[in-house]
Amino acid sequence: MGFAMLAGGQTSNPTPSPSPAAPQRSRGHGEPTKADILRGAYGPYRANNDLLSYHLDIRIDPEKKFISGKNTIRFRMLKDDSRIQLDLAEPLKIDKILLGAVPLQYERDSGAVFVDFPGTLRAGRVYAIDFYYSGSPLQTGRFGGFTFGHDQSGHPWIYTACEGIGASIWWPNKDQWRDEVEDMQISVSIPKDLVDVSNGKFMGKTDLGDGYTRWDWFVHYPINNYDVSVNIGNYQHFSDRLGGLAMDFYALPEDLDKAKKQFAQAKGMIEAYQHYFGEYPFKKDGYKLIEVPYSGMEHQSAVTYGNRFANGYLERDWTGVGISPRFDFIIIHESGHEWFGNSVTAADSSDMWIHEGWTTYLEGLFVEYKYGRDDGLKYLNGYKSKVKNQGPIITARGVNGEPPQDQYFKGALFINTLRSVVNDDRRWWKLLHDFYQHFKYQNIMTEDVIAYFNARTGMSMTPVFNQYLRHTAIPALELRFDPGHGTVSYRWKVDEPGFEMAVRVGKKHNWQVVHATTDWQTMPTSLEKNEFEVATDLYFVDVVKQ
Ligand SMILES: [Zn+2]
Repeated sequence: MGFAMLAGGQTSNPTPSPSPAAPQRSRGHGEPTKADILRGAYGPYRANNDLLSYHLDIRIDPEKKFISGKNTIRFRMLKDDSRIQLDLAEPLKIDKILLGAVPLQYERDSGAVFVDFPGTLRAGRVYAIDFYYSGSPLQTGRFGGFTFGHDQSGHPWIYTACEGIGASIWWPNKDQWRDEVEDMQISVSIPKDLVDVSNGKFMGKTDLGDGYTRWDWFVHYPINNYDVSVNIGNYQHFSDRLGGLAMDFYALPEDLDKAKKQFAQAKGMIEAYQHYFGEYPFKKDGYKLIEVPYSGMEHQSAVTYGNRFANGYLERDWTGVGISPRFDFIIIHESGHEWFGNSVTAADSSDMWIHEGWTTYLEGLFVEYKYGRDDGLKYLNGYKSKVKNQGPIITARGVNGEPPQDQYFKGALFINTLRSVVNDDRRWWKLLHDFYQHFKYQNIMTEDVIAYFNARTGMSMTPVFNQYLRHTAIPALELRFDPGHGTVSYRWKVDEPGFEMAVRVGKKHNWQVVHATTDWQTMPTSLEKNEFEVATDLYFVDVVKQ
């Protein structure tokens, strides 16, 4: 996800006139609304079909701030039924929904659109409907939703960023995380002096003869709805290659020199992630980096960038330990999402740590790849100051909303803890690589992650995952010293039954591994209470000395 939220707002966004931001829901506060359940749940009229492809074909009028067009939605029925659920935000008008030439009936409820067919659709068969719509989408949500803006030279600058609020704020789709199309065509018609950069491979542009040009893009892979984007502006283009991977960059003319310098970092980041996880996931689509006025977003194969062409995050030392100023935070973070978030995807936003915890951990891997183990550890541990521990990272399933920010920082520190639990880097690197390869292009839940880690390590890691992800507190190692006998007793204080985790204690560079459980155990020590340490850089735990 982009970091507008964490930055406290947009970057030097020149002109858009923001409408009042929609209230941001987070889960766990009060009862979910009906709209949140319709959006968040995988209800029966979603579960009865499987998406195959979209062709989004729209015309965007910057003067009128108006979109019109259609999405052709192909799907396979999984059971006999005569109704499916799609989604489109209410300010947008449904012009018609056609099955072939037959207009379909529909019912709108909050953001949901229930489409009714005149007869029963049969399980196993493939259908395609054309969903025509028009209107002025809302500029809303943390990242702007759909924004009609201008750059400083007065050219239109139109862009989308809708992860939290949902893609259905600007186009009709099955707006949930579990089911993705297998590929997608994106056709965007805009005034001919502008450029559209969307996801996927650029297929060509067509002069429509009425002052508009249609830009055609093709996404060869599954894609999250919220990743689908348009970026329309007075863009200049330059390109590069990394082996067989096409890299394309887009910036405004006034920023072109800065972009050529800063965007050169993208190559090294992709190399680092390829080292750990394997080939860039969307090779046929290429990798794109596109200037926008908000901080950034991981739009699949079309990462958007607004980090002021400077290292760190919005010119700050992001984790506060002197390492972040060596590289561009938005390029490293948003590009990491190509592996976790875009390729490996959570099936419900409740388990979004699979995107954000993992991608934040990937930042640490980039640092380790480039600057070594000590700096990687230091960088990740810099995140400790951002962890709040006010609620579990995993939130209620089937409800629209977003887990707390701890999913980023605590999530990354937890994964770093897992490495110490595995306690064998050769095995750890192979585990990470194979984990990604096993789940790439899939939509998974935490249970899938745990099952994989348990199977591959031969360890029962379920209680460890549960304590970090499903409870508020991190494990606390309680230590009781008995100087008279020269011993220390230790146990974990946790919420999760059956929790046990080996941990390194004693003196740095000469750690002793103890297999701590929730029961008191005693070991001899020659160290005094104030000398006795726990390897808290390697394990994200509290220490309570008694
Ligand atoms: Zn993110």
